[in-house]
Amino acid sequence: MKKILVTGGAGFLGSHLCERLLNDGHDVLCVDNYFTGTKANIRHLLTNPRFEVLRHDVTFPLYVEVDEIYNLACPASPVHYQHDPVQTTKTSVHGAINMLGLAKRLGAKILQASTSEVYGDPEIHPQPETYWGKVNPIGIRSCYDEGKRCAETLFFDYQRQHSLRIKVVRIFNTYGPRMHPNDGRVVSNFIVQALRGEDITIYGDGSQTRSFCYVSDLVEVMVRMMASPDDFIGPVNIGNPGEFTMLQLAQTILEKTNSSSKLVYRQLPQDDPKQRQPDISLAKTHLGGWEPSIQLDEGLKHTVDYFRSVI
Ligand code: NAD
Ligand code: UDP
Ligand code: UDP
Repeated sequence: MKKILVTGGAGFLGSHLCERLLNDGHDVLCVDNYFTGTKANIRHLLTNPRFEVLRHDVTFPLYVEVDEIYNLACPASPVHYQHDPVQTTKTSVHGAINMLGLAKRLGAKILQASTSEVYGDPEIHPQPETYWGKVNPIGIRSCYDEGKRCAETLFFDYQRQHSLRIKVVRIFNTYGPRMHPNDGRVVSNFIVQALRGEDITIYGDGSQTRSFCYVSDLVEVMVRMMASPDDFIGPVNIGNPGEFTMLQLAQTILEKTNSSSKLVYRQLPQDDPKQRQPDISLAKTHLGGWEPSIQLDEGLKHTVDYFRSVI
């Protein structure tokens, strides 16, 4: 059994990952500054003697002893990462340097939670890993997109320069229980609005698309990536290729919640990508035939049940 560090472990994805790693029998150290994560997300894990939590900001050095590192620390919702954009870039860049420095000292394997945002507003559809992306370097999303791109650069340079054992996954939109009700991302916004009978806020005309992956499918493939042979380092797309317009998503959520909320249209945010769908061939080939098993209908049902219980 290993000692595993999960940065951003009190967040949405991180808390599910910590839970999975504990269930697999590992010792887990969760590091988080609670910027967007919550203690409630990990409260149920605190009774496990193999679980430990440290309040810490990854932009500062961290000296601990572990065998593997999953680097997830970074706000993921546009509302939150644009709240303090300088801190967002610092978290991705200084955070990556510190975690890579830690991995280098320990000889530990390190996985970076990168993002489909490295493709920006893509001209190639669906997006394969070989596509270099179309990202605005000076827009309001850049702190996140360019921060994550720079983190990828650092990972690959530490690998080339210091022979670090790295893994880079590019995560596409993922949803599920423990998303924060005020997270600001589309799935949580629409479900919370529908359950409260508030207007559903469609940005733009709602024709833009996203491909949504349920959290358990994503955690499974992250764990498989970490366990894959050392010469498979990525970057590898992970997500569910099922693609929907925001109008389709709103409609499905209205049906699932039996809500009579109205759709209202709001301005499309600057640089909002028009379409997004992962090409997951690489993951399927290299990660034991992995493919997502929970489709939107079922995943939304679990997520709606969760939000009913917390709001
Ligand atoms: P989240 O906001 O729920 O979790 C991020 C966690 O990181 C939070 O617990 C937050 O408090 C913590 N954090 C932020 N800045 C920190 C810092 N400086 N030091 C320590 N901790 C810090 O978001 P999430 O959806 O769970 O995303 C987790 C990771 O996955 C992020 O790196 C995100 O970029 C990546 N990702 C997520 C998605 C998705 O759809 N959920 C898609 C692509 C990439
Ligand atoms: N670092 C860390 N924990 C460690 C080792 C390093 O947080 O156990 C940080 C440290 O702050 C350093 C950064 O990681 O600045 C990069 O480390 P590296 O060894 O690559 O560079 P250097 O120490 O030469 O700056
Ligand atoms: N969106 C929307 N209404 C909302 C929140 C988001 O129509 O209340 C749209 C947003 O403009 C984007 C899509 O939904 O086109 C996905 O947004 P999200 O913030 O979830 O993720 P990202 O844009 O980072 O993929």
